[in-house]
Amino acid sequence: MKITYSIIAPIYNEIDNLPELYRRVKEVMDASNETWELILVDDGSTDGSTEKIRELAQQDKTIRPVIFARNFGHMVAITAGWDYARGDAVVIIDADLQDPPEVILELAKKWKEGYEVVYAVRSEREGETWFKKVTASLFYRIIYKITDVKIPVDTGDFRLMDRKVVNVLKQMKERHRFPRGMSAWVGFKQIGVTYKRAARTAGVTKYPFNKMLRLALNAITSFSYFPLQVATFFGFLSAGVAIFAIPIVAILRIAGSHFFEGQTTTLISVLFLGGVQLISLGILGEYIGRLYDEAKGRPLYIVREAPEDTDN
Ligand code: UDP
Ligand code: MG
Repeated sequence: MKITYSIIAPIYNEIDNLPELYRRVKEVMDASNETWELILVDDGSTDGSTEKIRELAQQDKTIRPVIFARNFGHMVAITAGWDYARGDAVVIIDADLQDPPEVILELAKKWKEGYEVVYAVRSEREGETWFKKVTASLFYRIIYKITDVKIPVDTGDFRLMDRKVVNVLKQMKERHRFPRGMSAWVGFKQIGVTYKRAARTAGVTKYPFNKMLRLALNAITSFSYFPLQVATFFGFLSAGVAIFAIPIVAILRIAGSHFFEGQTTTLISVLFLGGVQLISLGILGEYIGRLYDEAKGRPLYIVREAPEDTDN
């Protein structure tokens, strides 16, 4: 059977959201009068979501479960969704219903007008802490400024992509992934549709601060050399200061001034330079660690159970 829409939802401990997610997606997609499938990627849930997914898939064959062997992370779960999707258009949606399924039809409308990537831009966010809002807003703006690809601001993973785009993305096997950036990087005809991001229907966020930080680091290192350039900049800056400072201090000393004498001056400059050097090493380490991960070439994810009707 030819499938028009593949809806991908990554699931990590979302047991209380699953029935409602299924209900709303079904309602919306049935109204589209086109064929669709719902790919539920279980990212190593431990709260019984896995069993719930199996149960739903038993009842309705439009649900295709992909069950991971452990938690591989949201971005990897999305990738598995791309790999198993069979539709002409592929939609990524959060399982907590913060992205209202009804918006899928608006995305689809733009797709029918000929756009190949239709991303959903958050005009408002409900039910999130000010900390999340501020850090998210900063994150999108910093990424926009320092990356070479123009990644739309205030835009999450909620988007529709044409089959052509997904086929290209499937060839991009990078490990530390930032799907939003990847889908901007590929080009094609892109457009945004604004929507109001709702509050979570149940459960708590699966993105604590350390995961947000990791996502931000992956986004930056995947799409920019900016941190490395900052290290170079500080290198030149301190070398430049030294070139001017050395003759000035020498002349002052010859002239009999005692202004720059003492351990404090030495200590401060040693600590400053030591700090800059260690930070630069750390930045280098971030890139080298990622290179090492790529070199190992391990599979991106391990599937315990794939949908039965799959040819992957
Ligand atoms: N998620 C996942 N693996 C993880 C963390 C999150 O598959 O390791 C899923 C989660 O179940 C949800 C989506 O990613 O469907 C977005 O996560 P969440 O709602 O917790 O993030 P937030 O909206 O708070 O940024
Ligand atoms: Mg959420």
